[in-house]
Amino acid sequence: MELVTLRDILPRAQREHYAVGAFNFNGYEDAAGIQLGAEQARSPVILMASQGACQYIGLYETVGIVQGLAKHSKVPVCLHLDHATDCDFIKEAIRAGFSSVMIDASAKEYEANIRESKAIAGFARDYNCSVEAELGKVGGKEDNVVVEDRTAAFTVPSDVPRYVEETGIDALAIAFGSVHGFYKSEPKLDFDRLEAVLKLTSCPIVLHGGTGIPIADIQRCISMGLAKVNVGTELKAAFSNTLRRMCAELPAEEFDPRKFLKPVKAAAAAIVRDKLEAFGSAGKA
Ligand SMILES: [Zn+2]
Repeated sequence: MELVTLRDILPRAQREHYAVGAFNFNGYEDAAGIQLGAEQARSPVILMASQGACQYIGLYETVGIVQGLAKHSKVPVCLHLDHATDCDFIKEAIRAGFSSVMIDASAKEYEANIRESKAIAGFARDYNCSVEAELGKVGGKEDNVVVEDRTAAFTVPSDVPRYVEETGIDALAIAFGSVHGFYKSEPKLDFDRLEAVLKLTSCPIVLHGGTGIPIADIQRCISMGLAKVNVGTELKAAFSNTLRRMCAELPAEEFDPRKFLKPVKAAAAAIVRDKLEAFGSAGKA
């Protein structure tokens, strides 16, 4: 199968009140685990690489891994560039074969954010690549994007309609209480703000920082109309903890890398399967 775009999977999710899971990977093992988990759940899936992950793996290598996984996949696979701030890098990723990108100009003023996101959306259209952008600032730390004061940075609902209209984006990340990374205190989502945004636009809305939010809260957002949920930190932790456990458990004379890494792939698959079931997208492929 060819890689799909957000346009291919999110509008249906919105109509049928489920959300598609988007999962960060940093190499082959977790990418393959994510795809396997999605097949087990018979769900469409979004594999996400951050700018940092692309630099670590190699841009063309990142595309090659996911195109390879999609080739024989029984479920639709989207390859999405997560939180990119460098427009030259985004264009390079689109040319390299990403089927979706996120332009994160959320640190800029409203007008500059519109200009930059619109320029990327225009460029991406020629390559049949979808575009996600961000209005308001999701808290926490994600690669090179750091947000200091999360409460000051929530999305203002009345800013949304003109933003979506002028940029021509396919999905919008909004800030309403989620943060990247592990939560230091109980996360409090602003459901009223989400509802206000959903009333004002038909653009699919994205929740960032899905790790650590109680699943019931995420399900409430999905029932309201949220269409994409990003999960990164939980997979990173599972990768490292599983690898640490295998190093401790396997005998000192074991040297076959696959003995160490197969459980890493299985751990990613198990998390992804669980999430996709919880998000209601299981069986939707
Ligand atoms: Zn994010």
